[in-house]
Amino acid sequence: STGLVWFRRDLRATDHAALYHALTECRQVHCAFVFDTEILDALPRKDRRVEFIRESLVELDERLRTLSGHATGGLIVLHAVASDAIPALARELGVQAVYTNHDDEPQALARDSQVRTRLAAAGLAFHTSKDHTLFERSEVLTQTGKPYSVFTPYKNAWLRKIDAFYLKSYPVERYAARLAARPKAHTLAVPTLKALGFEPAGLNQQALPTGASGAQRLFDDFCQRIARYGEARDFPAVKGPSYLSVHLRFGTISPRLLARTAHALMLQGNAGAATWLGELIWRDFYHQILAHHPHVVEHSFKPAYDAIRWESGPAAQELFAAWCEGRTGYPLVDAAMAQINQTGYMHNRLRMVVASFLVKDLGIDWRWGEQYFATHLNDFDLAANNGGWQWASSSGCDAQPYFRIFNPVSQSEKFDARGQFIRKYLPQLAGLPDAALHAPWKAAPMELQAAGVVLGENYPHPIVAHDEARERTLQRYAVVKTAA
Ligand code: FAD
Repeated sequence: STGLVWFRRDLRATDHAALYHALTECRQVHCAFVFDTEILDALPRKDRRVEFIRESLVELDERLRTLSGHATGGLIVLHAVASDAIPALARELGVQAVYTNHDDEPQALARDSQVRTRLAAAGLAFHTSKDHTLFERSEVLTQTGKPYSVFTPYKNAWLRKIDAFYLKSYPVERYAARLAARPKAHTLAVPTLKALGFEPAGLNQQALPTGASGAQRLFDDFCQRIARYGEARDFPAVKGPSYLSVHLRFGTISPRLLARTAHALMLQGNAGAATWLGELIWRDFYHQILAHHPHVVEHSFKPAYDAIRWESGPAAQELFAAWCEGRTGYPLVDAAMAQINQTGYMHNRLRMVVASFLVKDLGIDWRWGEQYFATHLNDFDLAANNGGWQWASSSGCDAQPYFRIFNPVSQSEKFDARGQFIRKYLPQLAGLPDAALHAPWKAAPMELQAAGVVLGENYPHPIVAHDEARERTLQRYAVVKTAA
């Protein structure tokens, strides 16, 4: 029989569940990717992620060709509405089944159910596999059979359940001779950005390595530092985390490889690896939350929090614009926003700081911030992003209590004490002494003058007073206390 593997958020040709199942069940296997116009049409014309995907596909195509041994093998790349294009391609190629990996985002589930129906109408099968996380959907449940909504017990159950069976890789390479040559009608290589209707977004300048080889390079580098992850991860000026999030998002590296490595190191007593494995478990946690509670996409996980009245109108719009553009007057917040705007990445500590600032200092609906991150993060992932925002706004499962409000100045003093991160992204403040950098409005006039900082001219006055904002937030959240 013949099969078609549909790649989506799994852009690699190794340790790949759907590819493995297709190769072991079919004599001939075609591979395809669709630049889905239903997703692409909504994006800005300069989008680093489209560039990242395109670069990664060039490498995937190359790799499949090498594996198959056919000069003309490789990936069929289409630019169309995926839910039409995949059933049409399956019929054209004469395959009996389409294989793909799960994607539990609500829109993806709707698309896949349409594809399944169309394939079934043509008498073709649609096989889907878990690949994106170590555990998914209802694989880790409480003793009473319910999904977890608190992280620590979820993590403990996850750690109890994980074993060699779940960590093992899918040995794709040994069946590679079954990869089919690319049919004549599909000899075109991966389309250019221009052909897709996009312009370069400057991805290469930012040294974000793409494709499976880029992911492997980052992981090799991180393995040298993983033991120190626990101590280093909270300081944005330090090379502490792995920077693998965009690769996990697009599947250019296998999550099983990462978990297997971290788990083995953890068993050898490597504390940094144990902490890092905990982050991969957070990833699984938020994916299962989204799968069980799709209402979180629009609503608070905890319904009482939907009663909160957020700021609105032109004043709120102006505060939001200042946050987006990094002109709040709080240097750590502004430097963090400069990081996301310039690179598409933001350090985890800073995501928590800026999210808290938007929601609890400016009183703005967390969904506005969630949407801004969704458009600007290279690693944007619906489950993790929604989980992170609901955590910061206290409306999520196992979230920060509402009365815990980050102080943007003390966060700055603690996590960027010497101002290395702030100076990198806000060069206009670079001449201030360390102690004045975290709250320039408190600096002595002579310090400001010596550093060439003129508040209101080359750096803004704070747009809100944190202490007053704190009081307003506690009042705003009072509706929750009454409802709870
Ligand atoms: P590392 O510290 O090396 O962590 C390893 C991996 O674990 C990450 O690549 C990521 O896949 C996963 N991970 C780490 N922390 C979390 C977490 N809290 N929740 C879920 N997975 C996690 N992560 C995204 O991948 N996409 C998002 O859109 C996203 N939005 C966020 C929004 C907010 C408001 C917050 C507070 C966090 C968000 N995160 C998101 C989680 C986290 O900030 C990033 O995963 C992390 O900063 C990526 O950097 P890294 O790969 O160097 O992480």
